[in-house]
Amino acid sequence: MLTSSNPCPCDSGTTFGQCCGPFLAGTAYPNTALLLMRSRYSAFVTGNSEYLLQTWAPRTRPQQLSFDPAVQWTGLEIVHTEAGSPFHDTGIVEFVATYSTLHPSGTQQLGHQHERSKFIRHLGRWVYLDGELDHES
Ligand SMILES: [Zn+2]
Repeated sequence: MLTSSNPCPCDSGTTFGQCCGPFLAGTAYPNTALLLMRSRYSAFVTGNSEYLLQTWAPRTRPQQLSFDPAVQWTGLEIVHTEAGSPFHDTGIVEFVATYSTLHPSGTQQLGHQHERSKFIRHLGRWVYLDGELDHES
């Protein structure tokens, strides 16, 4: 179980309590697209589907989310950001998230997801709109 003094899963270098923890707990809201992206990554790591759905734009939000228990997210690297500040209404965050998949045979396979995510404001708060996967990398 993740406590506030643990390193934040989003790889920010600070503690969960000083980083994504308050966002996931609903006691604070990310004021930039990048902070939202990081907190959504932490939600993936911790299996918090409720937070992921809450921070998804209503028009693209899926009915429900399920996690593949064989997949473990292992790291996040931010490649590029555009806009997405407290003074913008749209933002783009390009990132590479790494993971490992545990196969039934016991072998682990490493993989990564390179995505350019789009964020917009909904009722004043940043939400995830959609993303383009980069299959080249
Ligand atoms: Zn974090």
